[in-house]
Amino acid sequence: VAQRKPLIAGNWKMNLDHLQTVAFVQKLDWTLRDAKHDGAVEIAIFPPFTDLRTAQTLIDADKIPFALGAQDLSAHDSGAYTGEVSGAFLAKLACRYVIIGHSERREYHAESDEVVAGKVQAALKHGLVPVICVGETAEDLEKFGASAVPVSQLRAALADVKPDADIVVAYEPVWAIGSGQAATPQQAQDVCAALRAVIAETLGDAAASRTRILYGGSVKSGNIAGFMREPDVDGALVGGASLVVDEFAAIARYQ
Ligand code: PEP
Repeated sequence: VAQRKPLIAGNWKMNLDHLQTVAFVQKLDWTLRDAKHDGAVEIAIFPPFTDLRTAQTLIDADKIPFALGAQDLSAHDSGAYTGEVSGAFLAKLACRYVIIGHSERREYHAESDEVVAGKVQAALKHGLVPVICVGETAEDLEKFGASAVPVSQLRAALADVKPDADIVVAYEPVWAIGSGQAATPQQAQDVCAALRAVIAETLGDAAASRTRILYGGSVKSGNIAGFMREPDVDGALVGGASLVVDEFAAIARYQ
C-alpha cells in the first residue's frame, strides 16, 4: 500500500499583502502549534509573489514547518519577459512547490495545455514540485462527463515528464471553485482515480502510487473529512477557506 503523506495546500490567490502575511503566518503557526509538529500532514501556503520573501523569513526564523509555494512561474529561465517570475528565483526563496495551470490562469490568461506543459518542465528544471491543476467546467461536465477534460489536461501536462519526477496533481472542478458547491467525495474519488490511472499509464505504476492527488473546490472544515476518507484523494488545494486562519487550521486537522 502506498504511503502518501497528505498535503493541505492554501492558495491565497491575490490576497494578503506582505504585512498581512506576517500576521497570518504567525497566527496560523500558533493555531496549529499542537498539531503541526507531528508531521502527519504536510501544510503548504501559496502567497502572492510579493509575500514570498516575508513568508520565507518567518518560516526560517521560527522554524515553522509550513512548505512554501508560488501560484505561477514563467516557462523561461530569465531574459526579456517583463512581469514574469523565473522558477530559479522561486527556488532561491526556498519555494518547494508551484501551482501550474490553475483554472483562473487558464481562463483569464489563456494558458493552454502547451503553456502548462512548458511551465511544468520549467518547475522541474529548477527543482520545484509542480502542483498541476486540472478540472472541467460545468459545460464540460454536461457535455463530456467529469473525467474527460481533466484526464486530457493531465496527459498533456505530463507529456515530457520523467517517471521519477516529483509532482502533485490537483483535481479542481471549475464549477466547484469559489462557488460553495463542492464536489461530493465520490465525485472527487472517481476523477482522482482516473487521474491516477493517467499517471500509471504515462509515468508508470511507481509514480502513480507515490504521487499525491489533491481535491480542490469549495473545501472547508465541514467537508474535508469526507474527501480525505477517499483512497485516491491525498489532500486538498484550498482557496477561500485558506485565508481564514481558524478555518484553514481546522482543515489541516481534519482527522
Ligand atoms: C482554488 O482556487 O484553488 C480553490 C479551490 O478555491 P476555493 O477553495 O475558494 O473553491
